[in-house]
Amino acid sequence: MNRVYLLFGGNIGDVPVTFKKARELVEKKAGKICRVSPLYRTEPWGMESNNFFYNQAVGLDTDYSAETLLEKLQDIETHFGRKRVAGKMTSRTLDIDILFFNDEVIDTPRLQVPHPRMHSRRFTLLPLNDIAPGLKHPSKNKTVSQLLEECDDPLGVFPMNDDEQTES
Ligand code: ATP
Ligand code: CA
Ligand code: CA
Repeated sequence: MNRVYLLFGGNIGDVPVTFKKARELVEKKAGKICRVSPLYRTEPWGMESNNFFYNQAVGLDTDYSAETLLEKLQDIETHFGRKRVAGKMTSRTLDIDILFFNDEVIDTPRLQVPHPRMHSRRFTLLPLNDIAPGLKHPSKNKTVSQLLEECDDPLGVFPMNDDEQTES
């Protein structure tokens, strides 16, 4: 069994509903979801779109290898209408990144784990800190809460109100 942490992101369509349906599909195809963070909204800075970006961290137990899991998650992104376009931080219905895979360090052309930009992104660290504050980054040797404390990302990231959260 592998303990994995994922980050869901999206800024097109009814994203909270997409996340809920995507979690159901993840459970069906990839493993057992053991933790779900609140939803956060990030201001759309540096993007071509004016839509708010939503993020949510998810803890997953899976028997699949990291490479197989990535394929399954990309299938789920495609299922929800994700179009792959060149260039980073483009608008999308659903993005699922692998943040951690056990305490493994993976560096292949297709997959880098821990996610190479997670420690510099407030929109990743805030939700992850809600479900796994004491989790240690295997190469930085710091916990998620320490990384969040040190993070100087200026982007505004706001927890959504309780009445805007979708039930898990
Ligand atoms: P970012 O990775 O900066 O958040 P992004 O999520 O917009 O950007 P994508 O277009 O979704 O980037 O993914 C590009 C490629 O990144 C994927 O095809 C995948 O092979 C690769 N990748 C490498 N490491 C990871 C990871 N830890 N989780 C998900 N995808 C990864
Ligand atoms: Ca991403
Ligand atoms: Ca991605």
